[in-house]
Amino acid sequence: MIITKELAQKWFTVFAEKVIQDKEQLSEYDRIIGDGDHGMNMARGAQQLLSSWQETPPVHLADVFKQAAMKWISGVGGASGPLYGTAFFEMAKAIGTKEELQHEELVNVIKAGFDGIRKRGKSEVGQKTMLDVWAPAIESLEEKQLTTEILETTLTKVTALKATKGRASFLGERSINEVDPGAASSKLFFEALLEAGDL
Ligand code: ADP
Ligand code: MG
Ligand code: MG
Repeated sequence: MIITKELAQKWFTVFAEKVIQDKEQLSEYDRIIGDGDHGMNMARGAQQLLSSWQETPPVHLADVFKQAAMKWISGVGGASGPLYGTAFFEMAKAIGTKEELQHEELVNVIKAGFDGIRKRGKSEVGQKTMLDVWAPAIESLEEKQLTTEILETTLTKVTALKATKGRASFLGERSINEVDPGAASSKLFFEALLEAGDL
C-alpha cells in the first residue's frame, strides 16, 4: 500500500465517518468504564475535520495529519484529544516533506504516532488503552497481514485486560471484560486505513 495525499485524506475521511457513525456506541462503552464522553469527544473532532476540508483542502501529504492533529488537540478534549492529536502530529512530523509513503515508511510513520501516544500518555502496552490496539496493528501491518478480523480479535483481547491507566483504571478488576472506548476508536482508525487502501 502506497500512501499519497489522496489516500491519506480518504483514510481520515473514512475514520471520521466511522467515528460519527459509532458515536453512541463509543460513548456507551465509556459510560461503563469511564465518564461517557468518548463518542462525543471523537465525533466533534471528526466533524470539524470534515468541515475544515471543505474550506481548506490539504495541499501536501503531511497537511492531512497536521489538520487532523489541530482538530483533535483544539476541539476534542478529554484524554483522547491530546493523545490522538499528538499521534497525528508526530505522524505529520515523521512524514515531513514526503508526498508518498512506501509500505515501510508508512509503518514507521504509524510507529511515530504510537510513540507520541506513549510519551504523552506516560503509558505502555498492556494497560488496556488505545495503545493495545496500535501495537498489534503495527506489528501485523509490518508483516502485511493486517485484516479487519485481526482488529476484531485484538479488541477482544484488550477487552479481557484490566485497566491500569486512565479513568478506567479507577474501576480496577471491574474493568475486566468491558470494552475500552479508546481501543474501540483506534480499531476504527486502522479499519479505515484498510478500507481506504483497498480503493
Ligand atoms: P476521558 O477519559 O478524559 O473522558 P476519553 O473518554 O475521550 O477521555 O478517552 C478515553 C480513552 O483514552 C480510554 O479509553 C483510553 O483508551 C485512552 N487513554 C486514556 N488515558 C490514556 C493514556 N495515559 N495513554 C493511552 N491512552 C489513554
Ligand atoms: Mg471519557
Ligand atoms: Mg471526559
